[in-house]
Amino acid sequence: MSVPLLDLKAQYLELKEELDSAIGEVMSSAGFIGGPRVRQLEASIAEYCGTEHAVACANGTEALFLILAAMGIGKDDEVITTPFTFIATAEAIAHVGATPVFVDIEPDTYNIDVSLVEAAVTSRTKAIMPVHIFGQCAHMGPLLEIAERRGLRVIEDACQAIGATYGGKRAGALADVAAFSFFPSKNLGCAGDGGMITTDDDELASGCRKLANHGTTVKYYHDTIGVNSRLDALQAAILLVKLPHLDRWNAERRAAAAVYDELLADTSLDLPAAREYGEGVYHLYIVRSPERDRLMEALKAAGIGTAAYYPVPLHRQEAFAYLGYAEGSLPVAEAACPQTFALPAFPGITHEQQEAVVTVLREAGV
Ligand SMILES: *Cc1c(COP(=O)(O)O)cnc(C)c1O
Repeated sequence: MSVPLLDLKAQYLELKEELDSAIGEVMSSAGFIGGPRVRQLEASIAEYCGTEHAVACANGTEALFLILAAMGIGKDDEVITTPFTFIATAEAIAHVGATPVFVDIEPDTYNIDVSLVEAAVTSRTKAIMPVHIFGQCAHMGPLLEIAERRGLRVIEDACQAIGATYGGKRAGALADVAAFSFFPSKNLGCAGDGGMITTDDDELASGCRKLANHGTTVKYYHDTIGVNSRLDALQAAILLVKLPHLDRWNAERRAAAAVYDELLADTSLDLPAAREYGEGVYHLYIVRSPERDRLMEALKAAGIGTAAYYPVPLHRQEAFAYLGYAEGSLPVAEAACPQTFALPAFPGITHEQQEAVVTVLREAGV
């Protein structure tokens, strides 16, 4: 039985009528940029996350960039983050001219190791940017405590974690500000690129909104140099149809994770660790084995979708060679990268599909 890593076509067919009609309405309205659907989506995401403001933008990478730029973070500043994430996290820091400072991760959740953060704070540090990796929140309590004591801002990279909770609050409402991505494969995905910033901070919200629209608040008057980073009405309309289904999809992801947790409990694979402080949304179900490459080959040969997350930690990427991190400088992340990979765990995956995945893994000797 072949099983894809993610089944976006099934998700479209499930909501086809509503999606097609929402798209048709935007086409007939001929209002493609901004407008009521984008405003409505902002209000819905703010309500969903529990924040005062939500500001739509072009994608998750630019959400991070706009936040940093609106905070005035730039040259000579440092931002502490994790090396075990998608490049976008650190790319945004570099794009405002600041220096990413990488701190090692926990070996079982793959989130930033909060106990190592304070030692990385210098007189140049302006912010900490934790990533809620694979949909489980980073340990925000102690992180916020360090930030408060050292006078730092905290920016959540919540791109993989819409709907996840920490201490009863949702990702997006856990720190000063957060970035979300609506890339199609994310837990809430559009039909292209899209992003959102959530915050309770009035000034930061209006700063991000202005920067995202060419530094404009009054049309054709520009008080600062901004960028073009807008969400279009088609994407907003699609996301408005999908948002009411998000909690159910996330519950289905958690259920699929629980099935693997049980079926793989007696194997040699390291299964994802779930912390008690909140509820994760399993953007990806990541397992770990020293035999990673051989197991991935076996899965691929059986028609089962899998992928390595993340094959190279950011501090060892060519693009960040200028930062000068030697091999062995962040040993936990470096040990994880050759061993971690994703199993299919999308909303709607059937028990038979999961059993087929497990059978292949067992035949490969896990
Ligand atoms: C997807 C992702 C981003 C970037 O989002 P885009 O919308 O693709 O720009 C940033 N950080 C993390 C952790 C992501 O997974």
